[in-house]
Amino acid sequence: MAMFGAIEAGGTKFVCALGTSPQDLHARVEFPTTSPVETIGRVAAYFEVQTKHEPLASIGIASFGPVDLNPASPRFGYITSTPKAGWQNVDLAGPFRKTFNLPVAFDTDVNAAALSEGRWGAARGLETFVYVTVGTGIGGGGMAGGRLMHGMLHPEMGHMRIVHDWKADPFPGVCPFHGDCWEGMASGLAIEARWGIKGQELLQDHHTWQLEAHYVALGVVNLVCTVSPQRIILGGGVMKQTALFPLIRRETLELLKGYIQVDEIIERIDQYIVPPQLGDNAGVLGAIALATDVAKG
Ligand code: ZN
Repeated sequence: MAMFGAIEAGGTKFVCALGTSPQDLHARVEFPTTSPVETIGRVAAYFEVQTKHEPLASIGIASFGPVDLNPASPRFGYITSTPKAGWQNVDLAGPFRKTFNLPVAFDTDVNAAALSEGRWGAARGLETFVYVTVGTGIGGGGMAGGRLMHGMLHPEMGHMRIVHDWKADPFPGVCPFHGDCWEGMASGLAIEARWGIKGQELLQDHHTWQLEAHYVALGVVNLVCTVSPQRIILGGGVMKQTALFPLIRRETLELLKGYIQVDEIIERIDQYIVPPQLGDNAGVLGAIALATDVAKG
């Protein structure tokens, strides 16, 4: 059976593994994200050792972004305009394609996580769904009609503009581009800036929970109305506070005001807005799924 290589490229760490599925994921290692040359060098050295024991059919990369996903572009496989110092315009896929002479699949970390949740996790059997990660930042991806969402670029759901009542909430938001976009108001960084505590530790009192749920739900409602997903998966560090889920569901219903009359929303919202099932492995398994698909051609 063919074996696949996976790289989850994150802003703080790179996770590498070999495998074929959640039941078969091995040789997993993590490297801190330092300079591109050093980080890519470490990952390549890891695969050089691994491929001596186990030949690979392909490699999948699930990357932080923004990235260039247009196969016709000269910068296909690049990380492009990221605010992460030193990583602007870095060719991430190219070095692996050249060194290992294998097909290399490349997508955003959130699209990859969506792909793995669709194949093995919380969105199995669905053709159109959204995966949003509410962590340090907010990122969103998903599938539409059974295909990963690609277009002009890739979705940038975290930067959608949401309703902000400045009188009720004078917090200006933390996005360096927009201030009070979705990520600017509801990300882990926003929570930290607003309350002075990490998102994972936060939210001991009712008000903080309620406010976070309100801002997450504003984005969820926009996604319901624009993408019409069959399910919305909410992952990431902030969403490990599982008590947020019932509040977000309630707030979503409240904001929709009964306009979207489907059973998924009206009757089964508990199964509509859900946590991921693959946990912290969603990204690296997404890279395996990308690699599997590119090997099929
Ligand atoms: Zn923004």
